[in-house]
Amino acid sequence: MTDIALEMPWLEKPWQMIQRLLSEGRLPHALLVTGECGVGKRAWADAVSGLLLCSAPSLKEGDAPVACGECRQCQLLSASSHPDVRVFSPEKSRMIRIEQIRSLSAFAVSSPQVAGRKIAVIDRADQLNINSANALLKTLEEPVPDFVLILLQESGRPVLPTIRSRCQVLSIPLPSTEQADQWLATKVTHLEGDKKPSAELLAKSLMLAGNAPRLALEYATGEFPGLRDDAFDKFRQFMRGQVAVAEAAKAFKALGLEDMLWLFEGWAADLARLCAGGKASDHEAGEMLWFLASNNPAWRAHELLDMVREARTAGVYNVSPELEASRLLIAWRELMPTRRRAT
Ligand SMILES: [Zn+2]
Repeated sequence: MTDIALEMPWLEKPWQMIQRLLSEGRLPHALLVTGECGVGKRAWADAVSGLLLCSAPSLKEGDAPVACGECRQCQLLSASSHPDVRVFSPEKSRMIRIEQIRSLSAFAVSSPQVAGRKIAVIDRADQLNINSANALLKTLEEPVPDFVLILLQESGRPVLPTIRSRCQVLSIPLPSTEQADQWLATKVTHLEGDKKPSAELLAKSLMLAGNAPRLALEYATGEFPGLRDDAFDKFRQFMRGQVAVAEAAKAFKALGLEDMLWLFEGWAADLARLCAGGKASDHEAGEMLWFLASNNPAWRAHELLDMVREARTAGVYNVSPELEASRLLIAWRELMPTRRRAT
């Protein structure tokens, strides 16, 4: 028996909603699930696929159905070789292309091979380009009875309203720090020796990931925290006029465009929070951001957020991460009061 809400308790509400819809026979044709990066949207979608395909879902004490974990469907799924489930995610261009949606549409109208229905997951529906979004609309407008579409959307990244309005919308909340700590601790128990992250690194990764546990796990076992520290050091030095923009930009380039924009976005969001009297979630950067917040109007933070969004849009066209980093760094330094006086 697999019950995702036992493993990831913060998924309980959206999970119970699917259990209820399924037992009441009111399952929608399309679900749109939003949540922060690394909060567990994909794990939730995999669990939902399992529940919807299982041929003998068992009933818990209440009456919520759970996948049995033993039938042929469950076995195929756990071997990641179920022919009636397809996942579509962005390719090299960082977007989901129209060819992928055409193949999704063909899959939607084909007959299921071994299960009672087919499931397609679009992992990052916010990365559909305009052509693929329009192609997807056709599939959404002509629902097929044995086909369920699950769209995953990262918080703050738009999905066309015409797509959104044709889906049942659910959101996945962030876990409490306690839930996230517990989940992370279980995930790293099997890691050995120097591969096992320290408690300090786990806490830091969770902070950097904005409490999103799967992202924190990725950070804690990867290169991100080290690269982020280098970039943050150079960022501070650049703000104080101690290093040139080119040198600071190089440290950001090492992160790659996506992670670099994520960092700048996090700091700008923290700046906006501080300007509005709130707290910074990246407490290592908190002091510097607090200094900037007390010397600038709040709209400056929103300007920086807009710049990140523009850079992300431009990212589709292979912009240079170094150039984007320089542009953002220069905009940040405009916020330093000494520099304003100097110009
Ligand atoms: Zn089963």
